[in-house]
Amino acid sequence: MKTLIVSLALLAVVSCADKKSEGQPRLCTELYTAYQDEKSVGAESAVLKKNLWPHSVNFPLRITVRFLNGTDFQKNKVREYVKLWTQASANGVEYKFHEKNKINFKFIPYDITTSGNVADIRIFFGNGGSSSYIGIDSKAVPQDKPTMIFGWVNEFEPEESIKQVILHEFGHALGFIHEHQNPTANIPWNKEAVYKYYKDTQTPPWTKEMVDNNIFYRYSTDATNYTAYDPASIMHYAIPASLTEGGYSTPWNTNLSPTDVSFIKQIYPYHPCYVNETCCYDKNGKKIPCP
Ligand SMILES: [Zn+2]
Repeated sequence: MKTLIVSLALLAVVSCADKKSEGQPRLCTELYTAYQDEKSVGAESAVLKKNLWPHSVNFPLRITVRFLNGTDFQKNKVREYVKLWTQASANGVEYKFHEKNKINFKFIPYDITTSGNVADIRIFFGNGGSSSYIGIDSKAVPQDKPTMIFGWVNEFEPEESIKQVILHEFGHALGFIHEHQNPTANIPWNKEAVYKYYKDTQTPPWTKEMVDNNIFYRYSTDATNYTAYDPASIMHYAIPASLTEGGYSTPWNTNLSPTDVSFIKQIYPYHPCYVNETCCYDKNGKKIPCP
């Protein structure tokens, strides 16, 4: 896909597949920036360590988001479903001085003329593929350029498909790689069938090298934080049994898996008070006695 071509040109993006297209899976592709080394291309419930947003356990994480285009329908769907990641990042308790949720997406107006009003994530709605940069790689992209593209968020798309792609792309934006490329994944691929499948179903057809990079490549354990391979992850492609040996298959996942929900808290831990609860931080970061 075009995103893969980009990655080979050392400007990488992740693309995603869509379950709804008969015989033509629409694939999400990962985007990568020029400074990213090849080894870090490709992993998911795994994250690229160096791509995580800078964060402190004592403070919430705020990521700004801007829409570069889109209808109210499209924007509202993003706002609706991204909340599931936000909710997953919470510990289930309220804090006196800080947001309940570790991860907070702040949607800001489209106004690139305002200096300093930068957005960490820029969203473009189109009719082609879907893709996203992984984590902080989006910071290397010019402000007027998208860092996340949605190819099939519209009124004609099944709700589950819209939900899937929004959760999936924001997973990339938080640093997640594709789960089938988890360092511990051991999928019994029928490689020849996989090469043929992506050659026949993608436009332009995927080369062997593209399949190797997007499907078979597994990230190194050094480059990633990861859980055990989680086929239920929102970051997993659907795998038809025709592409594996022994009938192994996975469906399209349309929800965050239990592992996704626990892992996001692991990679972005949040405890605004000290562990012993004798000290907290106020909104300005100043230490104060816990209430
Ligand atoms: Zn993807």
